[in-house]
Amino acid sequence: MRILVTGGAGFIGSALVRYLVSINAEVLNVDKLTYAGNLASLKPVEGLRNYRFLRADICDRVAINEAFETFQPDYVIHLAAESHVDRSITGADDFVQTNVNGTFTMLEAARQYWSNLSQNRKAFFKMLHVSTDEVYGSLGDRGQFEEVSPYDPSSPYSASKAASDHFATAWQRTYGLPVVISNCSNNYGPFHFPEKLIPLMILNALDRKPLPVYGTGCNIRDWLYVDDHARALWLIVREGRPGEKYNVGGRNELRNIDVVNRICSLLDELSPNASHYGDLITFVKDRPGHDARYAIDATKLETELGWKAQENFDTGIRKTVEWYLENGWWWQPLRDRVYSGERLGLLEKA
Ligand code: NAD
Repeated sequence: MRILVTGGAGFIGSALVRYLVSINAEVLNVDKLTYAGNLASLKPVEGLRNYRFLRADICDRVAINEAFETFQPDYVIHLAAESHVDRSITGADDFVQTNVNGTFTMLEAARQYWSNLSQNRKAFFKMLHVSTDEVYGSLGDRGQFEEVSPYDPSSPYSASKAASDHFATAWQRTYGLPVVISNCSNNYGPFHFPEKLIPLMILNALDRKPLPVYGTGCNIRDWLYVDDHARALWLIVREGRPGEKYNVGGRNELRNIDVVNRICSLLDELSPNASHYGDLITFVKDRPGHDARYAIDATKLETELGWKAQENFDTGIRKTVEWYLENGWWWQPLRDRVYSGERLGLLEKA
């Protein structure tokens, strides 16, 4: 089985690549290596015969065409994207370029490749477009996002992902390209770039720096351990029906402040200090357009395809904190040279 993965040097993409290589699939990882792409996350698969890397921009049609032609994938799993909401507020150009134009390029290259395949291979080929629950907008106190929930994105990031989902659907409906879409809730786990809530809190705490919680900390997210997402993606690309969407979520709804408190108590236990890590929590100005609550109904994926998350938040967050405590070799260079924790995404200075 040959799988072309885009964005495989990122957080979720690298978890997926490590997983696919471990089950003996042949993987080509196509990644531009932006600030968020990190080949160190792929050390476990480096040099293995069933793993290849191509540094390329998904907006570069010539390079992408060539990747399709030389690698001859059976499946494409498309994750490459700009992914940080705060950065999209500061400047949306790269989000439109990569998430919208890049997805368009991937769809066109896939269509050209697929239409020239033999009947047998054509019937087998599938492309999975990986998206987010943020396309659905914000929930009130009740309810969950279902696959039929209307799109209502709030941030430049989620608007660009929503646009890319619509392109993917249109390519399936108009050209018959076998595309399936997944919309997943917030992921967490090892190798997560330290601009996102969970790794930022762990690393700031270890540096005895303030733990900035946006607004009142009451915004709710539905957390999924990244390896559970990787397993879901592999299942969806094989078993998912073209033209369908599948929601992916861990049924782990938590307020941000509860996530941060949980991290602090784990650090108190695993890396004790004279004072409690929780004393570092600082409430800061809220993110503009901050969605109140996300919650995913993953029933379709569970009942139609038989997926089930293996981790709950307690087991997953413990593994995650332990991993950061043991893997400074991975995150220290990023904290020193790429992003050291400064506030992003405010309309005016804090
Ligand atoms: P990430 O920011 O960690 O990684 C993105 C990767 O894409 C990086 O390796 C980067 O170098 C690469 N990339 C960016 N622009 C590119 C371009 N023009 N050409 C080629 N490669 C490029 O992102 P992530 O958190 O791993 O998210 C992966 C996908 O999953 C994204 O599509 C995102 O929207 C989606 N998603 C993420 C979450 C989450 O919680 N992180 C949840 C649901 C869905």
